[in-house]
Amino acid sequence: MRIGYGWDSHEFKAGVPLRIGGVELPHPRGLAGHSDGDVLLHALADALFGAVAAGDIGTWFPPSDPKWKGADSAIFVAEALRKAGAAGYSVANVDSTLILAEPRIAPHAPRIRQRIAELLAIDAAAVAVKAKTPEGMGTENAAIAHVVVLLERR
Ligand SMILES: [Zn+2]
Repeated sequence: MRIGYGWDSHEFKAGVPLRIGGVELPHPRGLAGHSDGDVLLHALADALFGAVAAGDIGTWFPPSDPKWKGADSAIFVAEALRKAGAAGYSVANVDSTLILAEPRIAPHAPRIRQRIAELLAIDAAAVAVKAKTPEGMGTENAAIAHVVVLLERR
């Protein structure tokens, strides 16, 4: 078995769609940055790359490359999953925590879990999506994601 851990943060920005975990959420502001700014899928990709010691998302998809501007972050997860598969592993389960002031994630968590499960070809019961508000952290203008994955030998 292998464990992987990923972390990411993005700043909120008006006028872009909010994508978290491969799902578009209704909110007046989205996340700025690399690709579509999907903080949860970026942390997930890094957890998968990390589990098989295959670098990180910046290794394979440099933010300096204009090719990835506005890209669907599912591409990064697919490549990370391919690397894990090539190393002989499949995903056993995923646990994640989002830290953001708003919007509330709980109402959308089932859809996000389902989407991540689809991307990883596993059951939604093996994908946890939890969320907290950034009490005392002073990060109200950011969304932060922590993800751990467990891989098992195929
Ligand atoms: Zn990111």
